[in-house]
Order: sequence, then structure tokens, then C-alpha cells
Amino acid sequence: MQCRSSNDLIQFVTEAKSVIKNGKVADYIPALGRAKRDDFSIAIHYPDGNCISAGDIEKQFTLQSISKVISLALVLIDRGPDFVFERVGMEPTGDPFNSIAKLETMAPAKPLNPMINAGALVVTHMLKGNSVEERFSRLLTFIQELSNDPSVSYSTEVAYSEFETADLNRALCYFLKQHQIINEDVEQLLKLYTKQCAIEMNCLDLARIGMIFAMDGRDPLNGKQIIPIDIARICKTFMVTCGMYNSSGEFAIKVGIPAKSGVSGGIMGSVPGKFGIGIFGPALDEKGNSIAGIRLLELLSKNYNLSMF
Ligand code: GLN
Repeated sequence: MQCRSSNDLIQFVTEAKSVIKNGKVADYIPALGRAKRDDFSIAIHYPDGNCISAGDIEKQFTLQSISKVISLALVLIDRGPDFVFERVGMEPTGDPFNSIAKLETMAPAKPLNPMINAGALVVTHMLKGNSVEERFSRLLTFIQELSNDPSVSYSTEVAYSEFETADLNRALCYFLKQHQIINEDVEQLLKLYTKQCAIEMNCLDLARIGMIFAMDGRDPLNGKQIIPIDIARICKTFMVTCGMYNSSGEFAIKVGIPAKSGVSGGIMGSVPGKFGIGIFGPALDEKGNSIAGIRLLELLSKNYNLSMF
């Protein structure tokens, strides 16, 4: 699909880029440490199929935590909200995304929400299928349909790099297994989770997925309801309350749109009823969000009055 480069967007991107110097590329997953700090791009996808952009929107990046909202959508379709929310909660934590602290204080050890790592691991555990391969392939097919891009795949390098080093996530899994929240082999679950996080695309694909959420789960171009309305609503609500980790409150005040970020520097935004946003900027702030991406969304929200509040 063609995406038209927009002078207004280029101007906002140039302004937002000034904060990149204060950010740092994530390197706790070694393969992510090789990202170029100064990369920065955005695409906006409208329901009528139009698209505007700024920066190198061909650049591929892995979804990381952005995948959490998509796996949640599929698991809610697979299992229904009652089953899912018996095993993972609905409340923001105020803690970093990889924190283990609250698990021990909850009885039973049910993770507080599906956007923190503990909760996302439980969600991935609930993905239906007879093997890791089948569960991953179902998720990938779903993502290809949402992005309307059958070429979307995953980075074996990033998946392996995370799998080899994910000891904190391993610890979360063992804790969850001890408390019977999950009951599968931890290495198998981590294999699936790290592949999920390593699903790779560009800003345009991401903006299109954001647009589908913005349009209540319906693909306006072919009329198909890919995600049921009530499930799209649940996902967008989590994006508002927990989508930007422990910056979600500040982000809701300053930007006010449902959004989900990942440590690769991606941000997916969904402006309800209007359009989807895909941003890639790997320099992160101290909470793990794309530093220039947040600045850019603040500028866009202010100038175009995008806050839903
Ligand atoms: N794969 C990453 C992890 O589990 C995702 C985290 C993120 O993007 N915040 O650590």
C-alpha cells in the first residue's frame, strides 16, 4: 500500500526528534541493543485506506510488548472474558512491566493485568493449539489479517536472543506455575512468548492494526468484524489504563488516546473512530517507552485535539 509523506507530520517528527538524545536503546535483550538510536518514523492509517507518513516507514522492528494486546484479543476470542479474567486481572500496577513484586502479595498469585509481563505470559499460556508451533502460527495468521500483510513474520535472531537471556520472565513463569496459574512446561511457554514478542513489521502495518482497534475491531475496507466489538473495547481500555507501562496515567493526561508500546521502540495508537498510528523510535525513556514517540504523540494530540477525555 502507498503511504503519502506529509509535510505536517515531517515537521512534528523533526520537533520530537530533539529528545532522542535523552533516550537509550533497550539492551537487556542483546539483539535489540543493535538498533539505531536516531531512527524515527510514523504512519497514520485512515479507515478509508488512506495513509500519511514521515520517516523511513519501511524499517522493520519487533512488536515486543505491543504483541500483548493482540494476543489478549485472540485469547479473549478463543476462551471468552470469564475464563481469561479468572486467571489475569484488570487493574494497573504502577510498577515496571517486568516487576515480580506484586505477584507475591496477591492471593492467589494472579497477575494484576495482561499488559505486564506476568499477565502476558498467562495470556500466551492460554493461546489455543496443540503445540507451540500451532499456537504461534494461529497468532501470526491473526496478526497478518489485522495488518493485511501476509508477509509479516518474526525475527529468529531477536526471539533467540530473548529466549537465551529471559531469566526474569523464567522466574515469573516458575512462580506462576508453583501457584497453578499456568500448568505447561516453562521452556515451551517461553519459546512461544519470545517468538510472539519477536513478530516483526513496519510502522504502516502497525498503524493498520491500530486502525482496526480504532474501528471497534472491524476492517472497514472489507467489512469483516475481525475482533468482536466487546473484545476490541476491552483491549482499548487496557491500552488506556496499562498500555504505556507505569507511565499510563501521565500519558492519558498528556495524550489521551489508547496506545501500546514495546521496548523495541514501537508504539501503536488507536484514535477511536478516526485512525490508527504506528510509530518506531528505539531510543527509550527510563520507563521503557519510545522517548520521541511519546513527545510526537503529545504534539499530535495537542495540535489535532485527539484526547478522548
Ligand atoms: N519481550 C519483552 C520482555 O518480556 C517485552 C517487554 C516490553 O516490550 N516492555 O521483556
